[in-house]
Amino acid sequence: MDNHARPIVVASACLEFDACRYNGERIPFDFLAELLEHVDVVRTCPEVEIGLGTPRDPIRLVRASRGPRLVQPSTGTDVTVKMKKFSKAFLADRSIDGFILKSRSPSCGTGGVKIYDEADRPSVMTHGPGLFADAVLQSFPDAAIEDEGRLRNYRIREHFLTKLFALSELRRVAAAGRIAGLVDFHSRYKLILMAYNQTAMRELGRVVANPSRRPFPELISDYRAGLTRAFQRVPGTGAVVNALEHAWGYVSDRLAASERAYYRRQVERYRTGRMPVSAPLAVIETSLHRFDVEYLLGQALFHPYPDALRSVADSGKGRSRKRR
Ligand code: SF4
Repeated sequence: MDNHARPIVVASACLEFDACRYNGERIPFDFLAELLEHVDVVRTCPEVEIGLGTPRDPIRLVRASRGPRLVQPSTGTDVTVKMKKFSKAFLADRSIDGFILKSRSPSCGTGGVKIYDEADRPSVMTHGPGLFADAVLQSFPDAAIEDEGRLRNYRIREHFLTKLFALSELRRVAAAGRIAGLVDFHSRYKLILMAYNQTAMRELGRVVANPSRRPFPELISDYRAGLTRAFQRVPGTGAVVNALEHAWGYVSDRLAASERAYYRRQVERYRTGRMPVSAPLAVIETSLHRFDVEYLLGQALFHPYPDALRSVADSGKGRSRKRR
């Protein structure tokens, strides 16, 4: 079932790839290393790209009336314009499904980056995204965007991968240009949409039904907008359990009491954060195979991304600072 489209991901180069941090270090990041086989990664170090060199004296964001400035306190150099120009040029005219950026960096941090009161004082006024990340958020508001800190949380990782591979698959559907392809996509993503946002699921159903026979480019554009709205945040466990129950309802009557009890235990462990959703999903999928429930076996919910990524999606812990 690993016929997944191959997402295009932009990554901060200091994560896993290059020793390009201000202090000449690289940050090992297993998640990104495991992704490489399944996605096309475009890596960049915006600070190196604007000529700061490695190693370099640190830069920081400093409060200013027209938005934060990016400055190097040791030299007094202001690289705001250079960074904005680079970001604009780098992000222009690219198809990108997702971004994995370095947290807390004044360039790459997606949020919560310190914005100082003055270039040479330690007092922090407020927080926000780094300058490159800010351009990413403006230019690609619908993409799957996370930093490596948040991706240490397995629920966030699962959400990120689900969204990333869905957007990539939809890009493939768009390139094929067939309404039948969109209908098939919507049908396969029904349970995932049920877990994320039932209102969006119904709205997208109406788009796909296409009662006024609109042309494909209009449909795909509306569908993509609705899908990214549905994927705006990590789904709640209650909503995910509802989707599981929907699938479980197709087979539960035909199972022994002990099998039903085993499923209940897996769901409870998922609900209380002791197990990833793949545990109850595996129980349901096994039963669907046993009773040959073909319609449900085609649901993306059972394989939202390549199976080989299950292990990286299911393990580890991390922070859960709020982000899209
Ligand atoms: S956080 Fe971004 S700018 Fe800083 S070293 Fe990493 S890739 Fe380069």
